[in-house]
Amino acid sequence: MADVVAFGELLVDFVPAAGPQSLVTAEIFKKAAGGAPANVAAGLARLGISSAFMGMVGEDEFGRFLAGELWKASVDVAPLRFTAKARTGLAFVSLQANGDRDFLFYRSPGADMLMTPEDVDSGALRAAKAFHFGSISLASEPSRASTLHAAGLAREYGKLVTYDPNLRLELWPSADDARAGMRLGLAQAEVVKISEEELHFLTDEPDPIAGARRLWSPRLRLMTVTRGAAGCSWLTPDADGEVAGFPVNAIDATGAGDAFMAGLIAGILASSAVLTDPAHISEACRFANAVGALATTGRGAIPSMPTRQEVEDLLRLHARITA
Ligand code: ADP
Repeated sequence: MADVVAFGELLVDFVPAAGPQSLVTAEIFKKAAGGAPANVAAGLARLGISSAFMGMVGEDEFGRFLAGELWKASVDVAPLRFTAKARTGLAFVSLQANGDRDFLFYRSPGADMLMTPEDVDSGALRAAKAFHFGSISLASEPSRASTLHAAGLAREYGKLVTYDPNLRLELWPSADDARAGMRLGLAQAEVVKISEEELHFLTDEPDPIAGARRLWSPRLRLMTVTRGAAGCSWLTPDADGEVAGFPVNAIDATGAGDAFMAGLIAGILASSAVLTDPAHISEACRFANAVGALATTGRGAIPSMPTRQEVEDLLRLHARITA
């Protein structure tokens, strides 16, 4: 049984094989496992934390491919369900000229959207220390009900609940629905990782700390706002701070946020003081920034998740340079 259960979508990403280019001009696509919570599970396993993935794929070749990729990444796939009612979801992913990622989803519906509360493996939740989820499974029923059911069970069992409100506007009926759904997730969690862009979308507030404060919910104990190469800001109910990122040769930011999330969860599992003490929070954010930075130095999300050794090497190297 795993220490962290990550819940949500598991999709096949098709990425232009010749590197970043638009979906209009790309000719050859490489198949890769995708889905933010699955990336977090893989990132945790790479850091040496046992993780499991809970979700649903189609009873088809792509579903079997995804289960195999997670298994190869040392993620426990026992809570993964297969359905014959829909095919595994697909996403074509590329970069726009301004560096933003471009997603074209094929899931109407995708198998991941059909997960029901009865498909939730309560034994895996009971055995874990933490439950992590995202917002995409909140965008439609019945996966929304199963997400809330799983988060509710995790809370009932006294587990740490962590959340990343990924913004994928095209998966919601409207921008207002996306805001309401993303906020619904925020109300469930004790730890939240949000990007500056998502924060701006939810609050329209230019200052990240002020924006994060406006999103505060009673259960929340720690929020981190990721800021790309600049690193991150963090907030607790009564303190906040900033932690600089690491200069690296970034070639593909896919999965950087998920890598950061994995690093943050790993830090909290190592010491619960990371939820309260500013020095511990800064140290955990530094670790998470290093995990995120290293994930940008390789292509794809799961293949570029760093090992604990690689993270520690970067931290040591940087400490020497800045000493
Ligand atoms: P998301 O992928 O969720 O949009 P970010 O782009 O903010 O999130 O990246 C998450 C984290 O990964 C950042 O807080 C930072 O620690 C690290 N990171 C991302 N891009 C870079 C980069 N170009 N150089 C160094 N670190 C990066």
